[in-house]
Amino acid sequence: MTALTRPMTDGLMGGRLWLYSNYHCNLACTYCLTESAPKVARRELPVERLPEIAAEARATGFTALGVTGGEPLLVRGLPGALVATAAELPTLVLTNGTLFTRRLLGDLALLAGLEFAVQVSLDSADPATNDEMRGPRNFVKVVEAIPRLCGAFWSPFGPTVHGGRLDTDLLITRTTRPLSIPAGAMLRIAGAAGARPASDQLKIY
Ligand code: SF4
Repeated sequence: MTALTRPMTDGLMGGRLWLYSNYHCNLACTYCLTESAPKVARRELPVERLPEIAAEARATGFTALGVTGGEPLLVRGLPGALVATAAELPTLVLTNGTLFTRRLLGDLALLAGLEFAVQVSLDSADPATNDEMRGPRNFVKVVEAIPRLCGAFWSPFGPTVHGGRLDTDLLITRTTRPLSIPAGAMLRIAGAAGARPASDQLKIY
């Protein structure tokens, strides 16, 4: 039991800690909340730090990890790092689903049998609507990739970048480690507000 057990049980804080692995992306969706695109600054969280953050997250009381970007699967060495994070906590990677080459699928095979899932993004069940935002033939490319994976899910994120500058509206602290500090800050804000925060999921950059 940790200081986060009760807030999570009460629904005050989500159990999944989200990590932004990088900000660049092979797509350039018209609405992208992180303004990700092929040529933006990479701003990568060093992949070798993921296992250590996962271990700290588990010790702090988080019950799951999410890895997002940008497009996380562009990060060299990510599959190996995910093996290590999944050994600590159930791990989800959020991807645009366009990079599943035979080689990448081979690398991801290391994760077979671990508590690991892939969440694939599409923006509409209508191919034309989806492709208008995400690029030509995106819909068919992603749908063709899904059968090669174990699952497909969807999740929203709050805005993090506007006009190339970090949006600080939702910033609760600039201290990200140890994780108990941002988690404590989030709970203090929720307590002061006397209600659940707009988001119950802590994200660090
Ligand atoms: S796939 Fe995701 S991260 Fe990449 S540009 Fe589109 S919305 Fe942004």
